[in-house]
Amino acid sequence: MLQQEDEEVARRLFQDMDLEGSIDYRSTAFAGRDFGGLHASPPFAVVRPSGSRDISSVIRFALKSPNLTVAARGNGHSINGQAMANRGLVIDMKRPSDAVIDFVRSDAGFAVDVGGGALWEDVLTRCVSEFGFSPRSWTDYLGLTVGGTLSNAGVSGQTFRYGPQTSNVTELEVVTGTGDTVICSDGQNSELFFSVLGGLGQFGIITRARVLVQPAPNMVRWIRVVYSEFDEFTRDAESLITRPERESFDYVEGFAFVNSDDPVNGWPSVLLNPDQLWDTGFMIRSASPVLYCLEVALHYNKGDCSSTVDTRVERLLGRLRFMEDTLFQVDLNYIDFLLRVKEAEKQAKANGIWDAPHPWLNLFVSKTSIEDFDRLVFKEILKDGIGGPMLVYPISRSKWDERTSVVLPDGEIFYIVALLRFTNPYQKSPSVRDLVAQNHEIIEACVRNGLDFKLYLPHYNTEEGWKQHFGDRWSWFEEMKSKYDPMAILAPGQKIFTRNP
Ligand code: FAD
Repeated sequence: MLQQEDEEVARRLFQDMDLEGSIDYRSTAFAGRDFGGLHASPPFAVVRPSGSRDISSVIRFALKSPNLTVAARGNGHSINGQAMANRGLVIDMKRPSDAVIDFVRSDAGFAVDVGGGALWEDVLTRCVSEFGFSPRSWTDYLGLTVGGTLSNAGVSGQTFRYGPQTSNVTELEVVTGTGDTVICSDGQNSELFFSVLGGLGQFGIITRARVLVQPAPNMVRWIRVVYSEFDEFTRDAESLITRPERESFDYVEGFAFVNSDDPVNGWPSVLLNPDQLWDTGFMIRSASPVLYCLEVALHYNKGDCSSTVDTRVERLLGRLRFMEDTLFQVDLNYIDFLLRVKEAEKQAKANGIWDAPHPWLNLFVSKTSIEDFDRLVFKEILKDGIGGPMLVYPISRSKWDERTSVVLPDGEIFYIVALLRFTNPYQKSPSVRDLVAQNHEIIEACVRNGLDFKLYLPHYNTEEGWKQHFGDRWSWFEEMKSKYDPMAILAPGQKIFTRNP
């Protein structure tokens, strides 16, 4: 009986919205889950729009109801239900065919127009194969949508040079919470442009983005070196991100790992391919429970003489103070380098840990607090590892546009810390609840010790939490919400605002 009623409601919905795309109220379970696997909120229906017009119709339809909400879902790779709409409408944005709509020359340089629901991996392969160009700023993993990362920031080893992905778009098409389709940029509707970038989906749904590109290199030399001392690791990493372009690598990241032979948390996680051997002697050379790996990469072209590449690499590495005999390197083509996490994804899917819960925690920690963070968190709370990577690397604030909605800690340099926990359903390991509790313990330790930090991909359950997160930007954020989504229809899964009746 209920099913019949649901069918009837759905039919009416479909007619009222007059969609060119489709609406599905049966196979909706996927949209009530996400990569985090910590929350479940099934929607009433999932809409697959054929374009901006459909998205506008869905929003206008929801506006007429007293309580319907609308969530754009990119690839659902959030951790805390951010792309869900409990009993609301989820718009499934993922559209591989939108990967590259157009190649454009703009005042700011070459760019591509891409759909908000395009996956970055498709943008990469199409851009390189069709134009020989590539976006400048990436995330580590590319199975994420353009709209999903632009709603947060989008960071990786290129961020020190080009800024986050939000600093590498010059124009957006957005359907706002009033159902209006608006083109915006620095020079046109700039308030909407900057609020949507890093805006956690609160002000509108990104349907198209103009992404800056540059000629793509063919090849990459990918290198890892190890440090026993955190201050030497940070000194070298900070020096690399502040040098002039020709005097540094094209990619700079790093991670902390456990000084043990554990295959996931320890030394073996540093090796770049199975042919590389690790030496048990490494372990006894440092008494520290945790060591640090600096990860860098240099772009080059197939025509470049290998001795020239070797010389450049040696010159750049020669200025660094890593532990002797801990240099690991491989050469691979540019696309394979950018798709490097896809291989890990395949393995994780095969052994069941990709689909298990991921209680991840991401933070931006200011340079002034990072040593305390190392002492309190890496060397104490996490000294046995987390069953996955513990990324830590510096980025420069000057590459971030402070007019966007992203909030950062103080200082010119701050660190991204990403605790990418994997849980193994087939092995005895701490419960997900314990891991979430450990995340809280880390945040509490940071607060108690006065560390300067902000959550990245933030998640709070109370308005007070959000107010503290945004600090003096909160009133501006609220003002933008009342302007562009006055009924608070959009992105309810972020739990920032409540739907106005
Ligand atoms: P979703 O999870 O589907 O959505 C996220 C939020 O954005 C939701 O609030 C949703 O409503 C909103 N949204 C989605 N699409 C749109 C749109 N078109 N317009 C407006 N709002 C929209 N982040 C990094 O910065 N660097 C990394 O290296 C990185 N690596 C990751 C690796 C993995 C394996 C995973 C799971 C995540 C990683 N992330 C990384 C985090 C990732 O950038 C965010 O979780 C991002 O939101 C996921 O994109 P998505 O397309 O799955 O978005």
